[in-house]
Amino acid sequence: MTTDVLTPVLTAGWGDDRAWTLEAYERRGGYQALRTGLAMSPADLTALVKDAGLRGRGGAGFPTGMKWSFIPQDNPKPKYLVVNADESEPGTCKDIPLMMASPHTLVEGVVLAAHAIRAERAFIYVRGEVLHVVRRLRAAVREAYEAGYLGADVLGTGVNVDLVVHAGAGAYICGEETALLDSLEGRRGQPRLRPPFPAVEGLYASPTVINNVESIASVPAIVRGGVEWFGSMGTEKSKGFTIYSLSGHVRRPGQYEAPLGVTLRQLLELGGGMRDGAELKFWTPGGSSTPLLTAEHLDVPLDYEGVSAAGSMLGTKALQVFDQTTSVVRCVLRWTEFYKHESCGKCTPCREGTWWLVQALQRLDTGQGRPGDVELLLDLCDNILGRSFCALGDGATSPITSAIKHFREEFEAGMHTPSRELFPPERSTAWARPLEGSPA
Ligand code: SF4
Repeated sequence: MTTDVLTPVLTAGWGDDRAWTLEAYERRGGYQALRTGLAMSPADLTALVKDAGLRGRGGAGFPTGMKWSFIPQDNPKPKYLVVNADESEPGTCKDIPLMMASPHTLVEGVVLAAHAIRAERAFIYVRGEVLHVVRRLRAAVREAYEAGYLGADVLGTGVNVDLVVHAGAGAYICGEETALLDSLEGRRGQPRLRPPFPAVEGLYASPTVINNVESIASVPAIVRGGVEWFGSMGTEKSKGFTIYSLSGHVRRPGQYEAPLGVTLRQLLELGGGMRDGAELKFWTPGGSSTPLLTAEHLDVPLDYEGVSAAGSMLGTKALQVFDQTTSVVRCVLRWTEFYKHESCGKCTPCREGTWWLVQALQRLDTGQGRPGDVELLLDLCDNILGRSFCALGDGATSPITSAIKHFREEFEAGMHTPSRELFPPERSTAWARPLEGSPA
């Protein structure tokens, strides 16, 4: 296997014996960055992460250090750090394995980030369905308290950090940062109007930083390796390493940690190529809410700028690949059913619009499409995109508009032929099992 494009940092110890324990983490150098970071002033630590160019790994790509610097330090209220571990996007599956394999990487990152923003209390908001992750995180937090990495006077430095692992109740919308805050406060999770932004009035109306799991977990490595080392990977504006989750009709699906800017062609090569010599038909660069790309885009650099120039978004780097036996109409219908189900109902374009989208897609999937249904879908998307209260509504339109752009004839065929006749399930390669030797 060609491995020269891989840069295992976060995933480096995942294969170790009982990698998730404190003992194993310390054996591979864990918590050394904490000593270095706590010896720095909060401002210097923030500047280090800013200079390194770490950008949020949860989808939006906002510079992490800059987000930390928005916390008004003259505000007398307590500051809070919240880790968004509510990973729920279809296809996105990087944070859960990270927290399972090496929860202490996240805990160490939390203490460093809390120190940088001068927060004495931090929360990890994890989706409730992944009970195994909740348990593993809680065990890691317990170990960290016992070892003096959490609590009062961490490692005798005078820094106090308490960390609470909070299990959500399984709503996709709680991955939206302000809905997450409402949920954490005990209310129904629905997005808040902004401004005020969380940096000014977040959790309990106090200054709050909300970061993704992978962003926070990257901090100890940056403190250990430094700005130049981090910048030696990735591209000019998208620096560092990241976890790409390769799934779908590929021979060896899994987590591939590589520098930003790697291409799908390289990752597919590492993944053993498409199954059974199948052809790549379409793929998502960052989960189902990012516009679909096709085989034409195999050489697009998978960084924030490259994917955006190709008309999509890097998102969560969840690369779901689909071969020529897949009905794009059916696939988009399944995603849209998900968004309809997960719409929180707060705003009309998304609540009503996703329902209507599903109706039209179901007709096309069953070969009962009406003349004008493709235009209707585009019109509905036009009325949702930019008119919804939060990104869920916008994201629901991305797979539809991009699929129509690339595969309009398949949608048109839905006027007379069901998807299952065009793409018979018995000819699908989806049954094939991944080969042995998948990474992480
Ligand atoms: Fe809720 Fe959808 Fe509106 Fe977001 S866009 S606030 S999920 S109804």
